[in-house]
Amino acid sequence: MTDRILDVDGVSVSYGDLTVLRDVNAGVAPGSVVAIVGANGAGKTTLLRTIAGVKSPDAGTITFRGEEISGREPHQLIHRGLTYVPERHRVFPEMTVQENLRTALVPVERDRREAFEQVFELFPILRERRDQEAGTMSGGQQQMLAIAQGLVTDPTLIMLDEPTLGLAPKIVEDIRDTILAISESGVTVLLVDEKVEMAAAVSDEMYLMRKNTLTYLGERGEFEAAYNRILEETVG
Ligand code: ATP
Repeated sequence: MTDRILDVDGVSVSYGDLTVLRDVNAGVAPGSVVAIVGANGAGKTTLLRTIAGVKSPDAGTITFRGEEISGREPHQLIHRGLTYVPERHRVFPEMTVQENLRTALVPVERDRREAFEQVFELFPILRERRDQEAGTMSGGQQQMLAIAQGLVTDPTLIMLDEPTLGLAPKIVEDIRDTILAISESGVTVLLVDEKVEMAAAVSDEMYLMRKNTLTYLGERGEFEAAYNRILEETVG
């Protein structure tokens, strides 16, 4: 499938004797927002970690921008335009917003002013607070900074793991708007979120991770019915 920016083909992953992913297949079209939903412990984070080069697959291949990347180191992938913002990613609390962004820029050679300008346009609150220590900001603002740290590396594809975890409903809405703005700026987004409604509100295509396998739920307009059908089958 050459029209995909990211292709996951037959990927299996285990931790010791525990098989966490079994023959997982997924694709992400350039410019789209793709969401993976599913319960706690289903394997969503493991899939993102595997794509990001943090964990090696036992089987299968991962192709990004036409090149096989299985086994590549995370910093090599950042250079290729693939950035991963982990779940509960902690910013450096004693550093200011700008210092946190500067740290994130280290792996890439990019003009700092241009990089900062790009993220400050998306997150005006970070511009306002650029000299504030990150640890003194709200949870939602720290999450925005975590996403901004991913964006300063100028990714083609950004993977966001549970960006709304533990945030109040109003802040979840802000993060949702941020994801849409990131997408509008031309960056492809692969999102993992347990909040199905939130994921459905932003994504063009959706997958469900369940019992270590990934099921394609379809495109916008299709996935809610598919999700409900699967839930009914599970209950019934
Ligand atoms: P969550 O939302 O809690 O992150 P998830 O769907 O992302 O859930 P994973 O974090 O990928 O799920 O975990 C899948 C399974 O792999 C779980 O049973 C978990 O206990 C196990 N697991 C995850 N990381 C490790 C690890 N480093 N070592 C051993 N087992 C692990």
